Amino acid sequence: MPLVPMRLLLDHAAEHNYGLAAFNVNNMEQIQAIMEAAKEIAAPVIVQASRGARSYSQDAYLRHLMLAAAELYPNIPIAMHQDHGNSPTTCKSAIDQNFTSVMMDGSLKEDGKTPADYDYNVRVTAEVVKMAHPLGVSVEGELGCLGSLETGHGEKEDDHGAEGHLSREQLLTDPAQAEDFVRKTGVDALAVAIGTSHGAYKFTRKPTGEVLAMDRIEAIHKRLPNCHMVMHGSSSVPQELQDLINKYGGKMKQTWGVPVEEIQRGIKHGVRKINVDTDNRMAITVAIRKVLWESAEKFDPRDYLKPARDAMKQVCRDRMTAFGQAGQAGKIKATTCKEYSKVYKS
Ligand SMILES: [Zn+2]
Repeated sequence: MPLVPMRLLLDHAAEHNYGLAAFNVNNMEQIQAIMEAAKEIAAPVIVQASRGARSYSQDAYLRHLMLAAAELYPNIPIAMHQDHGNSPTTCKSAIDQNFTSVMMDGSLKEDGKTPADYDYNVRVTAEVVKMAHPLGVSVEGELGCLGSLETGHGEKEDDHGAEGHLSREQLLTDPAQAEDFVRKTGVDALAVAIGTSHGAYKFTRKPTGEVLAMDRIEAIHKRLPNCHMVMHGSSSVPQELQDLINKYGGKMKQTWGVPVEEIQRGIKHGVRKINVDTDNRMAITVAIRKVLWESAEKFDPRDYLKPARDAMKQVCRDRMTAFGQAGQAGKIKATTCKEYSKVYKS
């Protein structure tokens, strides 16, 4: 099946009340892990690459790996998404590399760290929509800055994240402003700030409504019932994986992520895309550490990359099942971006 626009998947998810995990990739094993998991449970897939991932893997490798995935799994619809594009130029370069969806994160300026004002965000996001939609490419925007309500700080990942202290107002998406933003920009999906942050260290205890503002999602959904919301920084950071990393010589401090049941609550109120990266990174690290810890004589990378790939596959399978996307792949009609572009003209 050709790579499909992300909007096609989000619309199907909204129609059938489920959510889609969006997994970050940097290399072949991660793409293989996602695709094998998707095949086992017949799930549609969103694969995403950050700017850091694109420079790590190089665009040509990534593009061909995604084409390989589409060729090897003809029954699985796959959307390829640019995570946290920092400028229209970045989004354009992703579209040139066959990405079927881009995020224009105008909540921060082009440096990826300075909080931007609302008018800037509207302007750059609308510009990307104007460029992407005629090509059938989907666009995700972001309103509000991702960061912790406990500390008032963003978390940098892949060189992207707000710097300095953020007010509670900056850290929470305003529902009235969200309505205005979606109308003015025409985005296909909206990333919302509700107190989640990137990386493993999201919360210092199991999150309550004080630090994980799920009620914002409900409020935005009431105003914008047809808007597909995106939860960033939504790894669950399982205790078991933290313990195993430390058991095999790692040094992770105790931390808490976003509980799966909170994400499921979000899905009931319009969340359609859930970004998960840290959990996969942790699963890979546990598997590699375990092999090297228990079998110090090994030196063939396959001896630890294969278990690492299997471990990530299990996490992908668990999340996709929990979000409700299992069994949906066969119900989605293969559609290219070019074919989909007609939808925006009508
Ligand atoms: Zn993010």
